[in-house]
Amino acid sequence: MSSRIPESTVEEIRVRTDIVDLISSYGIQVKRAGGGYVACCPFHHEKTPSFHISREKGFFHCFGCGVSGTVFTFVQKQEGLSFLDAVRKLARQCGVTIREKEDPEAGKRARLYALHEELAAFFRRCLLQTKEAAAARAYLESRDLTGDICDRFCIGYVPKGEAPLKRWAEKYKFTLEEMAEAGVLLPPRQGFTNWYSRFGGRLVFTIRDRAGRPVAFSGRILTDDKKAAKYVNSPETPIFKKSNVLFALDLAAGSITKATRREAIVCEGQIDVIRCHACGFTTAVASQGTAFTVEHVQQLKRCADSAVLVFDGDKAGQKAALRTGGEFLAAGIPVRVATLPPGEDPDSLLRGKGPAAFQDCLDGAKSIIAFLVETLRAGEADPSSIDAVTRVSRAVLDMLKTCTSAVMREALMEEAARLLHLPVAALHEDFAKMGRQTNARSAAREVATMEDGSMPSGDGPECQGDGISAGDHDAASPANNPPPRRELAFCEFLFDHEHDSSLLPLVETYAVDAVLTHPFTRLVVKAWREGCVDGNRLESLLDDLPPVERGWLNGILLSDDKSGLSELSAERILHDFLRQLWVEAVRRRQGALPADSTPETDMLRLNYSTCIRRLQRDAWGKASRLMSADLFS
Ligand SMILES: [Zn+2]
Repeated sequence: MSSRIPESTVEEIRVRTDIVDLISSYGIQVKRAGGGYVACCPFHHEKTPSFHISREKGFFHCFGCGVSGTVFTFVQKQEGLSFLDAVRKLARQCGVTIREKEDPEAGKRARLYALHEELAAFFRRCLLQTKEAAAARAYLESRDLTGDICDRFCIGYVPKGEAPLKRWAEKYKFTLEEMAEAGVLLPPRQGFTNWYSRFGGRLVFTIRDRAGRPVAFSGRILTDDKKAAKYVNSPETPIFKKSNVLFALDLAAGSITKATRREAIVCEGQIDVIRCHACGFTTAVASQGTAFTVEHVQQLKRCADSAVLVFDGDKAGQKAALRTGGEFLAAGIPVRVATLPPGEDPDSLLRGKGPAAFQDCLDGAKSIIAFLVETLRAGEADPSSIDAVTRVSRAVLDMLKTCTSAVMREALMEEAARLLHLPVAALHEDFAKMGRQTNARSAAREVATMEDGSMPSGDGPECQGDGISAGDHDAASPANNPPPRRELAFCEFLFDHEHDSSLLPLVETYAVDAVLTHPFTRLVVKAWREGCVDGNRLESLLDDLPPVERGWLNGILLSDDKSGLSELSAERILHDFLRQLWVEAVRRRQGALPADSTPETDMLRLNYSTCIRRLQRDAWGKASRLMSADLFS
């Protein structure tokens, strides 16, 4: 992500920004406590402060809700910005000039942005001013979409034929190649001379990226032509990827960060979203004419802590809700599903029954698990029969497998147990037995097989959203137990001596995987070694870690820096850590010997004991010669 801003610049901005001042500048009361600072957490509701700030480390962590990070994370969360935008904002504040790395594509992208910006304004003018757009205006009138909201969403009309767009391009100095790259005008097919206007004669919705820049269009048909598609969308371009643009997120982000629970409303269609905003539900977004993907969830996660899905009440809507809900669970985001009255969508409900009825639906939204149970039970002839309960509980566990947050999974499991009238221990037992490999969509697939006896047809989800592998964060995995204390202390030492490359040869030679028992420790050691070479911050680990590991890392980051306290040199302390790690490793070997006494095992046992003593007592030069793989052969 930061590839276009040099790492050293990011580091300079980080060092120059005082995290305590930054947090105070958002009107948060920060108090001194112990060696650091505390405040009431701005990201969850609390009366006693559990939000800890370390000025020296430029780091915060909330022991209440687990949120943590650097100055950049704080600004990202407060303002719903991307990492890059947060870096740019803080750069301006602390007076650091960013020289973004040369990017040959940047000029081309800038042209495409300008083209979309100007075109969106042109389409808007066409809608308001041309005779040809009368049908479009009448349609909007009939849908009750008028005035300010059409401005806010930049709704426009594209005149028919190639001529108006060619004239426009000439006037605004864009080439036909650029019009083609944007997907607005397509070159003539072989044997023809006319260019084809993709959106000609259609009403268009302007699609903007997170920063509010127009990047694509979605055109709705205005005639009854059954052969033409109801909606056509811009193709993917260097500035538009369907899977990471959320419709209306530019407008909604500010409202979401201020909303209670920082909850986003997720709809299926653009009209639904526009209607929500028109009626004051300004936290609404939708995916861009495609299934919700992992990337969409990640986009939303920057400003939202939870989501409520408001999909159509029909079968297709239910399946979409379960599939989308699975993606949120996999990202550890609490997600609820609002059930609309049959036959209604958010647009029709808001127009027909008003905001209060819609608010009732939102208030009555159920957790994704309750929604799953309800949906599956509705499809069972006898929902209380043993085989029905088994089927439903299996689907529940399938879905919970994907959930990366242990706390959330636990709460949802209890809820499921209550709904199914099962002891939660029974669900736990089955959960532990389940295979490790599972899939975010298997629960949705279960619904499909039960309802129509077939697998869901290929509407694309299989090739999407596999970025988060559930198997990696399995509850049953030993990796979910924290590393042994000694290894954690070693990690702390490494953090205290980040970028101290004088220690690198020792760490490289002796802190080898054979003596590190925990994957987390190995990860930290590897990152530390890389950091010595390329200068990256160890904290950059934070962005990628699953919640459990991130918690361990936060514990390390918030521990006091002991490097200044000891009279021993860093090298001497490292020697001791390495001795201890090797002693533990030999002890484990010794402990693994067969219990019975044979001449061979007795010999080995004795050898190991001698070795432990020498590792502990010999001078480093001699002791370190023992530290090799031969020791275990
Ligand atoms: Zn908190």
